[in-house]
Amino acid sequence: MIRSVSVFLFAFLAGAAVALVARTVRHAPHADAPEPPLVLEQAPMVSNALVPPAPTAAAAPQPPETHAHAHAPAASATSATTPVRSETPTVARPVNTICAICGMDVDPSLPTEQYQGHTIGFGCRACPPKFRAEPDKYGPAYVRNELHAP
Ligand SMILES: [Zn+2]
Repeated sequence: MIRSVSVFLFAFLAGAAVALVARTVRHAPHADAPEPPLVLEQAPMVSNALVPPAPTAAAAPQPPETHAHAHAPAASATSATTPVRSETPTVARPVNTICAICGMDVDPSLPTEQYQGHTIGFGCRACPPKFRAEPDKYGPAYVRNELHAP
């Protein structure tokens, strides 16, 4: 009886010791893994009811609003300023860059002539009189920005 009890106790203690060792060994890896999830699980459980509704509702609308406000003014300002600045000088700018009669580059400082709604520029002071004398002869070449073929 005594031996069996002692064996039982030994086995029990041994088993308990093994179990303790096993728990401590398993506890180390388990302590790192399960503890963070436990904290995260407990935190959401409490915060899900109070915290998430406010942040999600406030965070969701904010990004679209900031993006919409940031993109809309930037796009409209860029698109509005660019064409206006380019169209304004284009109105008075000649359609041609070369003088169709002499082939010289158009001089912006020289006065322009109108031909069928087109503003025509000249590269020298000798060509405007020739153009005014025969606008239908030189006009198309000026509009096409090509050197007039005599
Ligand atoms: Zn010319």
